[in-house]
Amino acid sequence: MSVNQQAHTGPPYGQPQPGYQGYQQPAYGGQPLPGVPQSQYGAYNGPMPGYQQPVPPQGYFPSLGFPSKGSPVSLNSDTSSLAPNFIGSLRAPPTSGAPPPASGASLPSGHLTYSQFGHGDVQNGIPASAAPMQRPPASQPFLPGSAPTPVSQTSTFQQYGPTPASVQQLSNHMAGMTIGSTTAPAPPPAGLGYGPPTSVPPVSGSFSATGSGLYTPYTASQGPSPTSVSQGLPLAQPPFPGQPVSTQRLPTQVPGFAPSPSSTGIGPSSYPPSTGASRPPTMPGPPLPGQTVAGPSMSQPNHVSSPPPPSTMSGPHPGPPMSGLHGPPPPTHPPQPGYQMQQNGSFGQVRGPQPNYGGAYPGTPNYGSQPGPPPPPKRLDPDSIPSPIQVIEDDRSNRGSEPFVTGVRGQVPPLVTTNFLVKDQGNASPRYIRCTSYNIPCTSDMAKQSQVPLAAVIKPLATLPLEETLPYLVDHGESGPVRCNRCKAYMCPFMQFIEGGRRFQCCFCSCVTEVPPHYFQHLDHTGKRVDFYDRPELSLGSYEFLATVDYCKNNKFPSPPAFIFMIDVSYNAVKSGLVRLICEELKSLLDYLPREGNMKESAIRVGFVTYNKVLHFYNVKSSLAQPQMMVVSDVADMFVPLLDGFLVNVNESRTVIASLLDQIPEMFADTRETETVFAPVIQAGLEALKAAECAGKLFIFHTSLPIAEAPGKLKNRDDKKLINTDKEKTLFQPQTSFYNNLAKDCVAQGCCVDLFLFPNQYLDVATLGVVTYQTGGSIYKYAYFQLETDQERFLNDLRRDVQKEVGFDAVMRVRTSTGIRATDFFGAFYMSNTTDVEMAGLDCNKTITVEFKHDDKLSEDSGALLQCALLYTSCAGQRRLRIHNLSLNCCTQLADLYRNCETDTLINYLAKYAYRGVLSSPVKTVRDALINQCAQILACYRKNCASPSSAGQLILPECMKLLPVYLNCVLKSDVLQPGPEVTTDDRAYIRQLVTSMDVAETNVFFYPRLLPLTKADVDSDSLPAAIRNSEERLSKGDIYLLENGLNIFVWVGVNVQQGLIQNLFGVSSFSQISNALSTLPVLENPFSKKVRSIVDMLQVQRSRYMKLIIVKQEDKLEMLFKHFLVEDKSLSGGASYVDFLCHMHKEIRQLLS
Ligand SMILES: [Zn+2]
Repeated sequence: MSVNQQAHTGPPYGQPQPGYQGYQQPAYGGQPLPGVPQSQYGAYNGPMPGYQQPVPPQGYFPSLGFPSKGSPVSLNSDTSSLAPNFIGSLRAPPTSGAPPPASGASLPSGHLTYSQFGHGDVQNGIPASAAPMQRPPASQPFLPGSAPTPVSQTSTFQQYGPTPASVQQLSNHMAGMTIGSTTAPAPPPAGLGYGPPTSVPPVSGSFSATGSGLYTPYTASQGPSPTSVSQGLPLAQPPFPGQPVSTQRLPTQVPGFAPSPSSTGIGPSSYPPSTGASRPPTMPGPPLPGQTVAGPSMSQPNHVSSPPPPSTMSGPHPGPPMSGLHGPPPPTHPPQPGYQMQQNGSFGQVRGPQPNYGGAYPGTPNYGSQPGPPPPPKRLDPDSIPSPIQVIEDDRSNRGSEPFVTGVRGQVPPLVTTNFLVKDQGNASPRYIRCTSYNIPCTSDMAKQSQVPLAAVIKPLATLPLEETLPYLVDHGESGPVRCNRCKAYMCPFMQFIEGGRRFQCCFCSCVTEVPPHYFQHLDHTGKRVDFYDRPELSLGSYEFLATVDYCKNNKFPSPPAFIFMIDVSYNAVKSGLVRLICEELKSLLDYLPREGNMKESAIRVGFVTYNKVLHFYNVKSSLAQPQMMVVSDVADMFVPLLDGFLVNVNESRTVIASLLDQIPEMFADTRETETVFAPVIQAGLEALKAAECAGKLFIFHTSLPIAEAPGKLKNRDDKKLINTDKEKTLFQPQTSFYNNLAKDCVAQGCCVDLFLFPNQYLDVATLGVVTYQTGGSIYKYAYFQLETDQERFLNDLRRDVQKEVGFDAVMRVRTSTGIRATDFFGAFYMSNTTDVEMAGLDCNKTITVEFKHDDKLSEDSGALLQCALLYTSCAGQRRLRIHNLSLNCCTQLADLYRNCETDTLINYLAKYAYRGVLSSPVKTVRDALINQCAQILACYRKNCASPSSAGQLILPECMKLLPVYLNCVLKSDVLQPGPEVTTDDRAYIRQLVTSMDVAETNVFFYPRLLPLTKADVDSDSLPAAIRNSEERLSKGDIYLLENGLNIFVWVGVNVQQGLIQNLFGVSSFSQISNALSTLPVLENPFSKKVRSIVDMLQVQRSRYMKLIIVKQEDKLEMLFKHFLVEDKSLSGGASYVDFLCHMHKEIRQLLS
C-alpha cells in the first residue's frame, strides 16, 4: 500500500464544488474546465434554473491528518489520544488496504497527509544552500489521479522517501480502532472538513488578475502542476528568506496614477470650494479637458509655489496646467513616497485655481518661484485626484501574476481586488488575516502620533480557492497540542528550539518550556528541527490541531450539531407563498447539509417548528407513518414537548419529513392569525439543543414585529424624526435587554441563530437581530417579499446559508508577542471577558476585526507576532483548534509605517469602529471623529515623512492615497448619513452586516464596482474595465452594471442602440424595458450571454446573492442608483469626492499650523 493509493480512495482534495461556477472555470457558462475534478456529488441546483452556487464542501476534507514523523512514540500517543469516548464515533478507514500514513490514525483515508514524504530518514532539512527540493509525486495522496493541480510548487521540494514501515504500523492501529460506533452519524476520525467551501472562491482576489482589469479565471496553467500542490509547504524555501524586493510596496515605486508616481506633485493646484457642484448634471461621457478649467477664476494670493509651465505637465488633459498628475515627476528630487497635491492656501473656499505646480517638492526648479501669470480658472480635475480604479488596476498588473509567498515577515499582500494565489511558508494567508499595517511602530508614542489604528481583520474559517491548500490537521496525541507553559501559545513556526531540541523558547512571552518526550526531535546545524518540513505547526502559518477532551465542554466530546428550521406561518407568510416556497425548498436542500470528509451523509440532525402566536413542534421520527404535531401555547415558559423524534437524521426520516413539508402549507393555508411571537421561538430552539446536548443552528423565517403577548414582545418605536438628534442612537439599540440575555444563553449552548426576515413594515431589526448578531449568525432581509421577484435571491441565500462551512461553539483568542496586545474586537460575537471572542457559530464568511495597542516597546529585530487560535466544533462534531500565525515588522521611522499600510483594511476597521460608535454617540460626533482621525493620520505623514514643501500642498502617502475617497464613502453611507428613502431597519441591518464583513466586502460595499457592459468583449472571459463611480463617467449610449455586494444595478442610458436593447432585454425600445425584472431574460445572442455570465460570475464571488435591479436613465429608480455613484454629491448631503478632498486638506492644514 502506498500513500498514493489513498488519494484515490478518499474524496479528492481539490474538488470543485458541485454546481459552483465561475471561479476556476474559464467560461462563465458553467462549463467545467477540462481537467477539473468533478465532485462526486451532483450539483444541487435546486428548483431554480439559474442557481449556481458555491456549494458546500461535500466530498472532500479540508483538513488533513498530519502524520507525525514516524516515531513510534508519537504513533502510540496518537492512537491513544482517541479516547474511548471518542473512538465510538470513529469509522474504520474505508480502505483497509491503504492505511493512512503515519500518525494518521485518526484520519479517514483520503485525507491529505502532510508529510508522507517525510517519514524516511532523509529528514535533514534543506541543504544549507536552500536549494529547492523535489517532492515526489507520491507525497500527494490527496490528489485524485486526474485532478488538476493547484498551486505549483514544483521542483522546490526535497525528495523524501515515504517510509512504508511506519505506515504499516499505523494501519494496524487503525484496524484495531474501529470499535463500534456509538452515535449514528459518526464523525470521521480526523481531518474532517466542511464540504464544499473550499472551492468557493474567496471573495477577495476573485477578480481579474490582469492589469487590464479583466477577469481572468484561474486556470490550470496558472497553477501548478499537480504534483506540486500537495502542499504549499515551505519546503521550497527557508522559512524566512531574505526580503523579496518585489513584495515590498514602496511608495515611490508604486505606479500611482498616470505616469508620474506619487512623487510628483499631483493635482490641480486649486481646489475650488464646493467645486464638485459644478459638475454637469448630465453625464455625457468622460469629462472633457476643457471642463476642468471651468471654475471661477480667482487669484491666488496664498499660493506658494509657482506653477510650472503647463507644458511640463503634459498629460491627457492638455490645456490647463492642472494636469500635474500626469506630468512627469520633477526631475530632481527623490520623491517622498507619497501622493502630493498642491494647492493654494484656502481649501474649501472658492479661490482661484492655482496654476499647476510642476514640482511638489521644494527645491525643484519650479518650486517657490513666483507664480506666473494666473492660469485660466479651473476646477479641480477629477482625473487628477487619486483614482481607486487606477490603484486597483496597477496592483493587478503588478502583483496578480506572482503567487504571494508568505515566508517573509511583514510583507504587504496584494490588494483584495487582485486575483492572486497564496503559498503558505510560515505566515497566515491574507485570506485569513489582513492588517492595517505590516510594519508597526516600535513605541506607543509613535503609534499615537500617527493615529494609524493597528488592527487585524481575521477570517478564521475563510474559504480558499481550489489551488490553495487547506490547513492540515495535526494530532499531538492525548496530551494535546504542544503549548507554551506560561502564555499557552500554541506551537508555531516562530518558537525557538534550544538545548539540542529539548526545550523551546516562546516567541510570544520568552518563557522556556520543556519539549514533551513524544515531541522531541533533533536539531540540524542551523538549529532547526530536522522534522521542520514534516510538521505544519513548525513550517506553516495556518494549521489545525485535533483538540483533546480537555478542550471540550464538561470534558466531554461534543455530539454532532443540529439544524432547526423554524417557520413563521402567520397570515402574511402564508399568503405571500413564502411558507410553501420554504417547505418545497427544504425537501431537496436537506440532502445538502454540510458534511465532513468522505462521509456519505451529514452528521447534522434536523428538526422543525412552525409558529405564529403559538409554537408547533413536529415529531418526525422515522418509525412514524405520519408526522405528529404538538402545540405549545404557553409561550411564557417555553419548553420542548418532545425529545425523541424531534431531531432526526434526514435519511432515516426522509419519508416523514417529506410528508410534513407537504402538509405544512396546507395546514395553515386558511390561517387568519397575523400576530407573531419571536423570543419564544429562539427559546424553543435553544431548549431543544440543550435537551439534545449539542450545538446547532436555528434558521428562523420571520415576517413581522412580534407584538403577540410573550416574552420579548416589541412595540413599534420607529421614529425618523430622531435622525440627526442626540437620540438617533436609540434607533440602533435594542428596545429591550431581553434579547441580550437570551443571546448569552444561546452562546453558552452553542446555539447560533440565522434570521431570514420578510417585513412589509418596520419590524425592529435592531432588536430582532441581537441574538443573531451575538451568536455569530447571519441576517437576511427581503423587504416587501414577492415570490416572483425575490424568490431566486432568497433561495440562493438559503442554500448557501444551509450549506456553508460553519464551526460551532467557537472561542477565539488572539495572542501577541510582548509589546502589543489585542484591546478591542469588532464583529458578530459575544464576549464574557476581555480576551475571548465567543461565537455559537462561526461560518466561512464571518470576520472579526481586532485592534492592538502597545503595552511596551517593540524591537525592530524581533518584530511583532500574532497568533489567532480558534477552538470550534466541526459539522461532524469534532473538536479542533485552528491556528493562524502572522509576523509583522516593527519600525522606528514613521515613514516605514506609512509605506506598509493597507487602506482597504484601514477602512474596514474605521467603518466598524464608526458603526459601533453610533450605538453610543450622536452620528455627527462619530462622523467628526472619523474625519479628525484621518486628518491626523495624513497630517502626521505630511509633517514627518514628506519632504518639506509648501503648506498648500496636499501630500498623501502612496499606500493611503485612497483614504480620503474611501473614507468619504463611509461617511455618506446609509448608517452615518441616511437618505430619505433609507428606513430605520435598513440602517440597523447594514450596520450589522458591515460589522462582520471582510476587507473585500467592505471595499466593494463602500466603493461599488461599475462596469460598462457595452464595452465588454463578448469573445473573451474578461470583464470590461471598471470605471469610477461618478455620473459624469456614464454615457447615455451605454449600459452599465454596478455591484456592491448586496445589489446589482443594470443602468440603461436613454440613447442606447435599439439593437443592444433588443439583445439584452428582448424588447424593441427603451420605453418597453421593464424595471420590474429581477433577472435578465435568457436570450440566445452573444451580448445577452456575456452580460448574464458577468452577472453570474459576480453572484458567485459574493457571499450573498445580490438583488438585480434594472434602472432606466431618467426613470424614478435612478435616484436609488445614483446613491451608489459615490464620487458624486449625495442626495442626503454627502460630499463629492472632490469636495471632501478639499475639506480633508483644510483639516490637515489646520492640524499642521
Ligand atoms: Zn509563551
